[in-house]
Amino acid sequence: MINMLKIGVLAFQGDVREHIEMLKKIGAEPIKIKLAEHLNDVYGLIMPGGESTTIGFLMKKYKVDKAIKERHKQGMPIYGTCAGAILLSKEIIGSNQPKLGLADISIKRNDYGRQIDSFETELDIKGIGKSKGVFIRAPVIKNIYNGVEILSEYKNQPVMVRQNNILITTFHPELANETRVHKYFLNMAQEYRQIREMQKDL
Ligand code: GLN
Repeated sequence: MINMLKIGVLAFQGDVREHIEMLKKIGAEPIKIKLAEHLNDVYGLIMPGGESTTIGFLMKKYKVDKAIKERHKQGMPIYGTCAGAILLSKEIIGSNQPKLGLADISIKRNDYGRQIDSFETELDIKGIGKSKGVFIRAPVIKNIYNGVEILSEYKNQPVMVRQNNILITTFHPELANETRVHKYFLNMAQEYRQIREMQKDL
């Protein structure tokens, strides 16, 4: 049997279970990440939606933030949804909460307004096509820099972007029964595993 691809899911708070189910569905092996050493043998990390202040605080408390930054430097792919997207952004407008700040993005929390703070819409995603976008008290990406690539937009604002080994959606494919975004991420992780294995053979 081929080795299943191990993907970490940051498991402090938020929709951890939904990401785990999604990973199982597409044939990957999910690993819950609560401590730095849990990251040792994964080839990708998903940062779920939830409450970004809580997740950021716990990530710092358990020193998982440093370990993620280290793995990011080595090239490990990271996918952030919603609160995960907020934590990956370099600037969280109007907030100095703990974060990783790995993607060249300015983001504003809960910026769709009170009336429509949660909604569903049809998105068009580059390389994937039409897909349902579920937004829950979602942040808005206000600015991107240094070659961040836009993969999908809603009302002229990016909702899915990629910068090298970082993938970000402000919506939740794991709540829309949409497997293709996670498969896209799995491809990134697969490529990374191949590179790591080649390096080991040298
Ligand atoms: N509103 C949350 C925050 O600002 C994010 C919501 C979500 O992840 N669905 O942290």
